[in-house]
Amino acid sequence: MIFDKLIIATGNAGKYKEFTQIIRSCSDEFANEIIFAPEIASMIVDETGKSYSENAMLKAKAWSEKSGLPCLADDSGLEVKALDGAPGLYSARIIQGNDDNKISWLLHELANESNRNARFAASLALSVPDEYMLITEGHCYGTIADSPNGINGFGYDPVFIPDGYKKTFAELSSSIKNQISHRADAFRKIISFLKK
Ligand code: IMP
Repeated sequence: MIFDKLIIATGNAGKYKEFTQIIRSCSDEFANEIIFAPEIASMIVDETGKSYSENAMLKAKAWSEKSGLPCLADDSGLEVKALDGAPGLYSARIIQGNDDNKISWLLHELANESNRNARFAASLALSVPDEYMLITEGHCYGTIADSPNGINGFGYDPVFIPDGYKKTFAELSSSIKNQISHRADAFRKIISFLKK
């Protein structure tokens, strides 16, 4: 086993669940125990970085310093071609409100747009105290649907149709999403780096 305990540095229970599934399906030798960060402490790390990787590193470093344990953190976003890459780094805070409000904003911005191409991007930072910090990036390409569909997942999942599928992430099973997602892509890069 590479790690006995591994903290997933997020306060988002949906993301924690996804990470657990991704880690378990990619490797049965990565971690014995996968811990949801809020279970060991309460801490909010300000995402003041200018890139996904800076934000992921800020979170991984803060949590590994606090806990003394290896920590995996991510920062991610949706990049829409017709919006010049927006909402991107600001995907979680592009407007106030819940996920439904953000989806309404997105569909309104794309109302008269025929180019629906988009991608999810994620940076993952693995911080091992007093040893190393490893950063990878992953992507998942697709298109934005005309209206929301499905109830699985979180965030923009109800309007994101990954390439090769006819359904949104929110309609597909979590096991499909977690094989092809931006986070899975970035996590496989961590595994292949550690294997070297
Ligand atoms: P953060 O990485 O927690 O800062 O959040 C990034 C934001 O991007 C999320 O709040 C979602 O709105 C969006 N996002 C990132 N990954 C996904 C995903 O897998 N599905 C849907 N939305 C996502």
